[in-house]
Amino acid sequence: MQTEARAIVIGGSLAGLWTARVLADHFEQVTVLERDQLPTGAESRAGVPQDKHVHVLLERGAQIMSQLFPGITDELLAAGANRIDLTQNCLVKARGQWLPQFQSGIITYACSRLLLESILRKRVAALPNVELCGGAQVQGLVAQNGAVEGVRVKWKDGREDGVETAVFIVDASGRSSKLPDWLPEIGYAAPEETVIDVRLGYAGRRYKIPGPAPEWDTMLIGVEPPHQSRAGLIYSEENGIWMVMLAGILGDYPPTDEAGFLDFALDMEPEFHAAIQNVEPISNIIGYRRTENRLRHYEKLTRWPDRLVALGDAVCGFNPVYGQGMTVSAMAAVTLGEMLGASGGKISGIAQSFQKKYPKIVEPAWLLATSADLEWLGNEEATSFPEKFASRYMPKLLDTIPSDQTVHKMFIQVQNLIVPPTSLFVPKIAWRVFRHKLRFNS
Ligand SMILES: Cc1cc2nc3c(=O)[nH]c(=O)nc-3n(C[C@H](O)[C@H](O)[C@H](O)COP(=O)(O)OP(=O)(O)OC[C@H]3O[C@@H](n4cnc5c(N)ncnc54)[C@H](O)[C@@H]3O)c2cc1C
Repeated sequence: MQTEARAIVIGGSLAGLWTARVLADHFEQVTVLERDQLPTGAESRAGVPQDKHVHVLLERGAQIMSQLFPGITDELLAAGANRIDLTQNCLVKARGQWLPQFQSGIITYACSRLLLESILRKRVAALPNVELCGGAQVQGLVAQNGAVEGVRVKWKDGREDGVETAVFIVDASGRSSKLPDWLPEIGYAAPEETVIDVRLGYAGRRYKIPGPAPEWDTMLIGVEPPHQSRAGLIYSEENGIWMVMLAGILGDYPPTDEAGFLDFALDMEPEFHAAIQNVEPISNIIGYRRTENRLRHYEKLTRWPDRLVALGDAVCGFNPVYGQGMTVSAMAAVTLGEMLGASGGKISGIAQSFQKKYPKIVEPAWLLATSADLEWLGNEEATSFPEKFASRYMPKLLDTIPSDQTVHKMFIQVQNLIVPPTSLFVPKIAWRVFRHKLRFNS
């Protein structure tokens, strides 16, 4: 395989896998360099500490997944995933009120993150021009004449460390990406960052689904600003397992001991507590706290090394409670593929254009996540007009949902990134929100 036509992806998690799939259509060879050894099955990896926690794939993510990997949803279902209508099969309490259940056709394939990643990894590994290399820790970039042309790699299998060359390099190495350090090493500036941190913590535990199982597949208890800062999710994964997640905001972290975990659930919602109280746990309770919304503004750098792209959590990580990261990284990979497709093989210049476009790709998800978080932090922490506006309007819209199916359905579509957030501001919806506010003076 000619190295001139090789692309390298740094990181073999979700963003790296979507990207490898997309790049396989445009380069002769795609090499994914992943620091962890890659398991053959659905096993946790040290490089992805969040992989033991609940992961919901939004409808938009599921749609992209099916486009990139035809037939994959059947594969997931055959492996035990559950096809869940997000309004019909989910019992949801939002802002203190139980929501009516109705069929929306907005679907997720509920399974563990480990199963999802392992099936995606198998599909990518089967592509004839993609090579997945585990045990390959990237340590820096090699650049010349304004473009990257390789990465420095430390191999964990005893192979001599060296440089891997490529004509196109994608950083998909997640929140812990070292790109802000690597850029100055090759003569470029590090990016500014926007951070909105509501200090949310997770605690997760797996249980055997009791028999007979309840009528719902998923129970979601949302926070209730400004008093109830606790949330919880019971999520049906493969093999008859419930993933139970508790979350708390503003440092109200859920405990990771048995009694504390159950007390936290009881305080949040007695019905949630009752559902798990006498059910058999099959794992430890695991905590997680690195949950801030963080956007690295690579788009603002005036100088950018050609042929280098960054995407996924390496550029923008979200408060995970909104379930957006996997889907947004898929959207970014697809956009990159479209730009490469439109280039007619002239890849020079694409990298910086892509980076400049990045804020637009993440904007819908960013607005949703930050407007909800700013309700806790205070509107003055909003950093842009859309953030300020959304953080004032969204609470009123959320208050309308329990009594208005039209608003509810539109919100679920927006939340699943199927339609843009502007759909929530169209007169048909804004009028309903306004009418609700007038009626209840909320
Ligand atoms: C607790 C939690 C729950 C979440 N829940 C959801 C959810 O419900 N739905 C959802 O869509 N998203 C969720 N997310 C976000 C989701 O995990 C990520 O958005 C998704 O994994 C895509 O991230 P990524 O591939 O960019 O980075 P990561 O998943 O962090 O992967 C980065 C990869 O790069 C590798 N790597 C790092 N540095 C190097 C290096 N120098 N050299 C080689 N390899 C390297 C790592 O080992 C890792 O494999 C959650 C996140 C957290 C923290």
